[in-house]
Amino acid sequence: AEMREDRIKKTKTVCTYCGVGCSFDVWTKGRDVLKVEPSSDAPANQISTCVKGKFGWDFVNSGERLTKPLIRDGNEFRESTWEEAYELIVRKFNETKEKRGADRLAFISSSKCTNEESFLMQKLARAVVGTNNVDNCSRYCQSPATMGLWRTVGYGGDSGSITDIANAELIIGIGTNTAEAHPVIATRVKSAQKLRGSKVIVSDLRKHELAERADLFIRPNPSSDLVWLNAVTKYIIDNDWHDKAFIEEHVNDFDALVKGLEKYTLEYAEKHTGLSKEEMINVATMINEAESTVIMWAMGITQQRGGSDSSTAISNLLLATGNYMKPNAGAYPLRGHNNVQGASDMGSMPDRFSGYQFVADDETRAKFEEYWGTKLNAKKGQNNHEMVDAMHAGELDVLYLKGEDMGVVDSNVNYVREGFEKLQFMVVQDIFFSKTCEYADVVLPAAPSFEKTGTFTNTERRIQRLYQVMDPLEGTKPDWVIIQEIANLMGANWNYTHPSEIMDEVADLTPLYAGVSYDRLEGYNSLQWPVERDGKDSPLLFTDGFPFDDKKARFYPVDWTEPTEYAEEYDIHVNNGRLLEHFHEGNMTYKSEGLTRETPEVFLEVSHELAEERKLRDGSLVRLQSPYGKVEVRTIVTDRVYGKEVYLPMNDSGDGAINLLSSSIADKDTSTPAYKETKAKMVVLERG
Ligand code: SF4
Repeated sequence: AEMREDRIKKTKTVCTYCGVGCSFDVWTKGRDVLKVEPSSDAPANQISTCVKGKFGWDFVNSGERLTKPLIRDGNEFRESTWEEAYELIVRKFNETKEKRGADRLAFISSSKCTNEESFLMQKLARAVVGTNNVDNCSRYCQSPATMGLWRTVGYGGDSGSITDIANAELIIGIGTNTAEAHPVIATRVKSAQKLRGSKVIVSDLRKHELAERADLFIRPNPSSDLVWLNAVTKYIIDNDWHDKAFIEEHVNDFDALVKGLEKYTLEYAEKHTGLSKEEMINVATMINEAESTVIMWAMGITQQRGGSDSSTAISNLLLATGNYMKPNAGAYPLRGHNNVQGASDMGSMPDRFSGYQFVADDETRAKFEEYWGTKLNAKKGQNNHEMVDAMHAGELDVLYLKGEDMGVVDSNVNYVREGFEKLQFMVVQDIFFSKTCEYADVVLPAAPSFEKTGTFTNTERRIQRLYQVMDPLEGTKPDWVIIQEIANLMGANWNYTHPSEIMDEVADLTPLYAGVSYDRLEGYNSLQWPVERDGKDSPLLFTDGFPFDDKKARFYPVDWTEPTEYAEEYDIHVNNGRLLEHFHEGNMTYKSEGLTRETPEVFLEVSHELAEERKLRDGSLVRLQSPYGKVEVRTIVTDRVYGKEVYLPMNDSGDGAINLLSSSIADKDTSTPAYKETKAKMVVLERG
């Protein structure tokens, strides 16, 4: 008889939700998830997880999982075989390529998928189809942070590990709702404060949980962070508190920085940020008094027209105070999705191969051409923001999109959805029939993280293996298998039998991942990039200098971009972000009963002042209307927000509420949508 032990199985995996990258053991019996058990061997989280990692797995057995390919038939979809779906896809891809050119096709990879899958997606686009039109959703969140770091310190990654955050004397969080978006990091911050006496500064529009606990909480006007960051940097330099020895040895262009900061006096900053001089002096003093400072930031900084510049200002401040190249210090853009770092690392970007190697560089291209045995396109491709404009302009015919609900999560979704309708042919590969699938011509059923093998790279550049917990649900396939099958039907000759072979290829072609192999990642072992060929990794990103020719970082002066102007009637600033229990468009968490019970519906946080003015209470129904669309939502009155600031969680079970309101305005350097510059007018429908 079958032993009980034979049927109950323990598998190590990595969480599919946020960028903290918690790893843990999962106990299963068949497809039943018995429990999630954190392990003290887990490098990012040890024995902690949050509610999503612990309970957010019912979705794998949801009756709503896609299990058959679907083909559009008029306004309906019909089920098809894989062969028929592939035949149609390959015919359309080939036809478009031959008749209209390879740049008429575009590819979007997913930060939910593994590194190996993102690598294959860009290889399919580049080596098989012949276009650089490939991107991923870090375009919606952290591209500006990456840009700010590239400009100044050369690598777009966290300066150290989560442990460095926890060991810093001063922890500054700007525009990050850490307790809800990166719960395990917030726990570490809270215990650093309590047990080690670390000081915490929070700058945010919303008095969220970490803000409540901060030693100093500041609330600047929307989109004014660059101003106070520059003013604090200037104040530090004017007081001679900057780290002269560090700057002398490791940073170029100090004079340019000083010149660029001239106008950012405390008076100027007071006028434009709404902060008091004392608040800014406090920030500067606390940085000056701390032995080590880390700055964590997220979408509150990046999703603005000046998102890259504000991120650059953060890095300038850290450089000026010598807070790089040592433990417990530096820059920590907190990555949203579990594998948002990895999706970019793997070259799902229109101008870079894996490891941020430039497509335009002849030598780099020659290296890839030789390895892949094919000529490659040198022309920079479109990012996903440009793809939408190209759809509207009739310049893009085919989109192949995997694991992303772009019709909900992109900004100004009405415009995005109209773009989809103008495509000739669209393939969506997902685990559920998302809103975006409604616009597809073919839908392919993929497998989630529990059903596959691969690696994810978390916010601290840590590469970790996930082992297959259960077989792919009948009828579905892992994304890497699907991409390989399509590539081969288009004439490629790929022979990957296991994702480890894809990683071997990544290592061969990518200096940042040179020493990465599945053997070195066995079990709970992990590596933080850059990884040298001999396997030596880099928990601290900068040890003997910065990745520029002279090994020196550079100051990069930046100026303020004022927030987008709206007509006066749009008087409500609609801030947006996450909820603890849900994740993004919610297509996994809303199918996990344990999570949905907690927060079934999206709601709008309004301030006491606004409630009084408009006679609102908990449960009132209001309509928000922006120039781009409208939503109806119920209110809750709270002191987390103030004045005409409202907060609309981006997680919702249906239509993507916030993005019916947001615009197509974007960060000027990276095209990241300015979600945080959304304004609307409010009509009360029901006082309740
Ligand atoms: Fe950890 Fe983030 Fe997963 Fe929560 S959602 S368990 S913090 S990786």
